[in-house]
Amino acid sequence: MTALDPRPIPLPSGQTARLQIVGAASALGAPHPGTAQGPAALRDALIERLRAHNPSARWMDTLQADTAPPPADAAMPVRLAAVGEFACQLAERIAALDAGAFPFVVGGDHAVAIGTWRGIARRLGGAPGLIWVDAHLDSHTDATTHSGNIHGMPLAALLGEGAPALADVPGPRLDPARVCVIGARDWENEEHERLARLGVRIFDMTEIHRRGLAAIFADALEIVRGEHGFGVSIDLDALDPLALPAVTCPAADGIEPRALADALLMLRGRDDFIALEIVEYRPDLDPHGHDAAWVAELAIAALGPATCALRARERHFGARNYAPLPVVFHRGEGVWLWDVEGRRYLDMMSAYSAVSFGHAHPRLLRALEEQARRLALTSRAYSNDRLPPLLERLCALFGYERALPMNTGAEAVETALKAARKWAHKIKGVPADRAEIIACEGNFHGRTIAIVGLSSEPAYRDGFGPFPPGLLRVPYGDADALEAAITPRTAAFLVEPIQGEGGIVLPPPGYLARCADICRRHDVLLIADEVQTGLGRTGRLLACEHDGIRPDGVILGKALGGGLLPVSAFLADERVMQVFTPGDHGSTFGGNPLAAAVAWAALDVLEDEGLVERAATLGSRWLARLARLRSPRIREVRGRGLFIGIELADGPPSAATAAEWLLARGLLTKDTHQRVLRLAPPLIVEEKELDWAADVLEELFAKETPTTTDGVLETAVPR
Ligand code: PMP
Repeated sequence: MTALDPRPIPLPSGQTARLQIVGAASALGAPHPGTAQGPAALRDALIERLRAHNPSARWMDTLQADTAPPPADAAMPVRLAAVGEFACQLAERIAALDAGAFPFVVGGDHAVAIGTWRGIARRLGGAPGLIWVDAHLDSHTDATTHSGNIHGMPLAALLGEGAPALADVPGPRLDPARVCVIGARDWENEEHERLARLGVRIFDMTEIHRRGLAAIFADALEIVRGEHGFGVSIDLDALDPLALPAVTCPAADGIEPRALADALLMLRGRDDFIALEIVEYRPDLDPHGHDAAWVAELAIAALGPATCALRARERHFGARNYAPLPVVFHRGEGVWLWDVEGRRYLDMMSAYSAVSFGHAHPRLLRALEEQARRLALTSRAYSNDRLPPLLERLCALFGYERALPMNTGAEAVETALKAARKWAHKIKGVPADRAEIIACEGNFHGRTIAIVGLSSEPAYRDGFGPFPPGLLRVPYGDADALEAAITPRTAAFLVEPIQGEGGIVLPPPGYLARCADICRRHDVLLIADEVQTGLGRTGRLLACEHDGIRPDGVILGKALGGGLLPVSAFLADERVMQVFTPGDHGSTFGGNPLAAAVAWAALDVLEDEGLVERAATLGSRWLARLARLRSPRIREVRGRGLFIGIELADGPPSAATAAEWLLARGLLTKDTHQRVLRLAPPLIVEEKELDWAADVLEELFAKETPTTTDGVLETAVPR
């Protein structure tokens, strides 16, 4: 066996139980037959979407009633008997699912729940707790019903109340002390009295509005936990009919579907969550599948894998070139991110400035979707109708004659280096293959072999040589050193106007202006890498503006893709750009219409939302507040606009420990270069969010010795 042993290492077992889905195609309890078609209508799309998150998902079968449904006007006992019989059939099926499998029942009207939960209780040998998410209380009996609809009775029956045809379906009864209802907004007194008498906790919509669904869900989990675990039964009626047009409860003001999906994330990774049921989907009211997509979203939220399972997979199947902080994200909106267990975090990283406009910006999403539908990629073997206007706009906005689109930052840096070398050889007169590039100590320009050849960071270089010749470095901030390093062969000086990965390092005042002057005198190109600092991050459109310089070339990336796609560009005047001729440089994806449409919309957002000015104002206020943090643990707080670093003093905590502590408090930062915490929120951040972040940082620095533990995520507050 070689050192590169190809045998897979087995994953820890049992991290994701096999998911077995049973359809319960019954509308025997409902006044309309539509719900009976629910399981069949949901099946294909649901299983396809679920499998992408939980490959073990299997649709076992779709149960139909053994006997023909009684006519709608049949007497109550006849209808009760039909519902009871179907419940027995379903309970039998559920009880017989594979031991160790996780059952997921897709209804049918809510009366099928009698079969589901009796079946589950039989599998377990005792009743589980149950969260009943519903607009109604479903706690009538045949004696109290106003409508005569049996789907208004299943909860009472599961608690052992009402007609024996339902209440006596074989299997243990639920314990009312471990049952709760979430989302009730439409009930009759008899039901409410019954549940109150039995001691079932009801979280109605008034309480949900007052306290928030996440807090209520957390309380509910406390109520239902215990022996045999707990299940969740979701009647889609609980949801807001304005958001889900197929919701059949006409009473306004149900649960917002996104809030429910977020709350259901709390179920992930709980090994006491033992079964799920979703009922009352009416395909006849959902011709475009909008509500069906929400059913899948809810199921994925509850049934997708948890942090540990996902991280184990990443560790097992991924190359080991990252050591991510212990969190797995699932959704982002604006400045907020949600992890797979429903905890919310304020994003102070913005994916290294790529998400400067926030997550899921509606305008950017619209541009992405519209263009993706129309035309995404043709390669630059042809022209497309989105790139030319973008090129023109980039040139006008940044004041250059030409723009060359690429994808990642590193590619645009490579493009700039190629342009500089060819310019030196073809125009400046440097002998062939002798051109030199000068960069700075502590730089970060990307990860290609040429670029890491410029790096001073041993970890970025180790083992990756040999590097191309002609790459030199000088100390950042030392203009004399630059001048001393320049030779007749020097093509370009590549510099970040603020070093980002190097630890948010600001150049000394006047440095860049002196460099520009030196470059001009020696006929050397000054190329500014604004991949991270550009597009408003530092409170100016380009960070170079702080120093009043106009580089010969500018590299943009990250935010140009609106946080949705990799989009980068190299901008320069004809003097430099003339070196490129057809065929000598390119990229299949560079300048594709999808990227161009998104970049266009990103520039719209930047301009229309006044984000450059916003970064300047909010940034300087926030920097002032952070600068007032008094702690022996802080060496320096520095930055420009919303690009701020807190350099920690020697000794504990390390920046990595601090970042983990902040993560546990719901604040996303990242250590850079051991001692610096980087703070770079989306430019759309609100002042109150910055204040909150400052409070959390204050708390961190007030602590004796913050440490992280394996359980750091336990403390992050679900919201
Ligand atoms: N230049 C700078 C200044 C950067 O900060 C980065 C990425 N952090 C890059 C270039 C490389 O960008 P990418 O990761 O998109 O290749």
